[in-house]
Amino acid sequence: MIKSVGYAANHSFSSLKPLAFEREEPKQNEIEIEVMYCGICHSDIHQVKNEWHNTVYPCMPGHEVVGRVKSVGAAVTRHAVGDLVGVGCMIDSCRQCEPCQAGEQNYCEGPNSWLATYNGPMVPSAKAPTGTNQYGKDNTYGGYSTSLVVPEDFALKIPAGLKPEVAAPILCAGVTTYSPMKHWGMGPGKKVAILGFGGLGDIAQKIAKAMGAEVTVFTTSQAKVNQAPVVGAYAVHVDDHDMLESLKASFDFILSTIPKKTDLTPFVPLLKRDGTLVIVGALEPLAPFNNMQMAAHRNAIAGSLIGSIAETQEILDLCAQHGIGPDIELLDIKNINDAYTRVEDGEVRYRYVIDMATLKPDAVEAA
Ligand SMILES: [Zn+2]
Ligand SMILES: [Zn+2]
Repeated sequence: MIKSVGYAANHSFSSLKPLAFEREEPKQNEIEIEVMYCGICHSDIHQVKNEWHNTVYPCMPGHEVVGRVKSVGAAVTRHAVGDLVGVGCMIDSCRQCEPCQAGEQNYCEGPNSWLATYNGPMVPSAKAPTGTNQYGKDNTYGGYSTSLVVPEDFALKIPAGLKPEVAAPILCAGVTTYSPMKHWGMGPGKKVAILGFGGLGDIAQKIAKAMGAEVTVFTTSQAKVNQAPVVGAYAVHVDDHDMLESLKASFDFILSTIPKKTDLTPFVPLLKRDGTLVIVGALEPLAPFNNMQMAAHRNAIAGSLIGSIAETQEILDLCAQHGIGPDIELLDIKNINDAYTRVEDGEVRYRYVIDMATLKPDAVEAA
């Protein structure tokens, strides 16, 4: 067993505290990763606070993980000891169903769906049709920890030229915004609007531009509007009705990264005929849409969940090639609970990344 330390919450109302635990040694096709950096995703906060009503405790989040391969199973061929690798939201899937066979593991239709990097299978065993858990575990511990053990094909290669701490948020925030833009064919000649200018919005606008699209960002933060020209995006305030009126029927695609239930109907008229609004920020019941607005230009409202393993590698490579990445603030893990509050208050520019060198092996005794 691999002695590890991480930060976990014991209840929906408790703060994150150091926890000593053990990981199993890597099996034939698995690798052991010494974690160097882990991004903080808004999902981590939803999960810790049980806001999706499916949290298994102790809950040790972290699904934007970058580190070095420390050891490998006997059958591993993809990665070698010392390689820089990344792990996103998934660490396994059923590998049998149609989506898995098509390489879309993030839409796995197996009885337990995919195995999340933390908080166990997407469909817990009790709810699975067969009543069995194909992964043999109801809970998994994520990357707010010193180590991680995953199947080699669920670990991505971090390209040279991408700083490991900058690569971390691309593993969730990056692929979550890239996948729908790719699926709906965004590229040169297309106009994309991004709603929300937090961790997802920041990387989304950079990726959209790298894909060749023309980008507009919508945010309620005047400070971020003032800042936007620096990053090359065009931002307007959502209360600017004259502006919204002037932008009617001008976008091929709108990506909402707003992390909570929000009335998005005012944005639907901004779509061109057959344009699509995709919601990636809020995984919860939505505010109602007025179908009069949607019907008027045959618009679609759609969901999208992270991205496939292949898409995750694509977006890492694209970011390296274009020299782009999220703006990050490195975090000492002992300040994690304050960091959560700042993320909830929208005060981060734009993504916190935990520097795992700040997590000492004796953190549990010291706490
Ligand atoms: Zn995430
Ligand atoms: Zn599957």
